[in-house]
Amino acid sequence: MSQAIKNVVIVGGGTAGWLTASLLAARHDTSIQVTIIESPEVSSVGVGEGTWPTMRKTLKLIGLSEKEFLTTCDASFKQGSRFDGWVTGDSDDSYQHPFASLINGASHDIYNVWKEFSSDRTFADTVCAQTEVCAQGLAPKQKNAPEYAAALNYAYHLDAVKLAKLLTSHATTKLGVRHISDHVMQVIGEKDEDISALRTREHGNIQGDLFIDCTGLNSLLLGKHYEIGFVDKSDVLFNDTALTVQVPYADDTVPIASETISTAHDNGWIWDIALPTRRGIGCVYSSRHCSDEKARSALETYLKASGSLLELDDLSVRKISFPSGYREKFWHRNCIAIGLSAGFLEPLEASALVLVELSAELLVENFPSDRSVMDILAKRFNESFIYRWERIIDFLKLHYVLSKRPQAYWQDHRSDMSIPERLQDLLALWKQQPPSRDDFLALDEVFPAASYLYVLYGMGFETRQKNSLKFLNKDEVIKQLQMVQQKVRTLTAVMPSNRALLTNLKKQYNAEA
Ligand SMILES: Cc1cc2nc3c(=O)[nH]c(=O)nc-3n(C[C@H](O)[C@H](O)[C@H](O)COP(=O)(O)OP(=O)(O)OC[C@H]3O[C@@H](n4cnc5c(N)ncnc54)[C@H](O)[C@@H]3O)c2cc1C
Repeated sequence: MSQAIKNVVIVGGGTAGWLTASLLAARHDTSIQVTIIESPEVSSVGVGEGTWPTMRKTLKLIGLSEKEFLTTCDASFKQGSRFDGWVTGDSDDSYQHPFASLINGASHDIYNVWKEFSSDRTFADTVCAQTEVCAQGLAPKQKNAPEYAAALNYAYHLDAVKLAKLLTSHATTKLGVRHISDHVMQVIGEKDEDISALRTREHGNIQGDLFIDCTGLNSLLLGKHYEIGFVDKSDVLFNDTALTVQVPYADDTVPIASETISTAHDNGWIWDIALPTRRGIGCVYSSRHCSDEKARSALETYLKASGSLLELDDLSVRKISFPSGYREKFWHRNCIAIGLSAGFLEPLEASALVLVELSAELLVENFPSDRSVMDILAKRFNESFIYRWERIIDFLKLHYVLSKRPQAYWQDHRSDMSIPERLQDLLALWKQQPPSRDDFLALDEVFPAASYLYVLYGMGFETRQKNSLKFLNKDEVIKQLQMVQQKVRTLTAVMPSNRALLTNLKKQYNAEA
């Protein structure tokens, strides 16, 4: 079993394939050869429009200029999400989940400080300045800030098809990735053996030591060849369909929202993502609870209310069906699934691309130099990602469990039968004490305690505990809260609008190009 791992073959040229190829090639230089096989016959899903702040580190690592990325991928800055209508559906029902980490101190203290000294403000407005910056459509940094640096933590909204195109050019010209445009017809190797090669239609057999399955929902290697089972989570997260449209702006002065706007409807929710040249809007719903016609009507109502000049009939509507769940394992023998081939959970809180980044990062950091260590690394990889998928499921479910909306879809979401046991336990605990770091075991949780605090208290969850303030210096606490409000005043005075900054950076890029 001792065989050096030199040839990595990735099947699939969507964002998962190209991000993985770029990270591997950037880190391992010429010590390994990375090849991507991308079918000209199977198109990629290419919806992913919201990312996580990790994307800044990823793009920097692979050596992309941020200005080039923003300009060529029609990307904008994202500083979190706003949730409208999730609690009651009333017109004033809205809360924010910003990317800001929390002011110093344990979250028990933060909760109590909020209740004691600032209950006339929302939890998020009390602990960070980012909510107001988002509310005013402002950017997270100034025009002369260095690339990828942030005054306020940020991610991106982007056009995933354009990102895959940019990565294709960058990875092949700058990082030495070999690109084969061909369709994989057959996997060579028995089911209880390693894969030795892939048979393509026009390029014969492509040999490799390690194969990465980025074939999207086809899951050609891990799912179809190795028949690794799918852990279905549709009994927890019901949504399985989206109707998506791209909506033009009235003109190029319309503000570009700095956060994803997620608006609940009777049987799901609608995302509204602002890119520099258009908005991407998608109505997500559960086909068990809602017909396509009803979803279409919810989308139509939303478009009118959100100022679209075009009616739904004037736009091209794309219907996408998606599963809810993940594979029983992601790394089996010499094959790893990354991206949709590993699983998918509805796009609430944009967790798909961050899982791609984390998978590629773990592989890069623990690359098997030799076949003999592969099974050990595979075991660790699988344990780590099963934990992550389950925690993401908990966090997404939280948004539904706390709703008070009366429709059957929302009631079903609140039924104990559909709530994971760990989440039920945590909710019982959080009735007594606020979430803290101790509730989360991993060092790099996708959704840390801060995210739970924003959602729980944004949705009106009540915690009883009120006893840790005696450990705090009251003057110091008040000073910290005043500093947050001072930061609001400073940032809202100096930050350019999201649109102004993006226009400026585009100009700078075009002048330099
Ligand atoms: C409705 C919806 C909304 C989403 N929103 C978000 C979001 O806001 N944020 C986010 O992070 N993610 C989002 N995602 C997920 C995101 O779109 C994907 O995770 C991401 O695009 C990665 O996709 P992928 O590369 O795994 O698969 P795909 O994009 O499907 O790519 C698959 C690739 O495999 C190739 N292929 C398939 N079969 C073969 C074969 N036999 N031979 C050779 N090549 C083959 C195809 O040609 C293609 O290049 C969303 C997904 C959906 C469905």
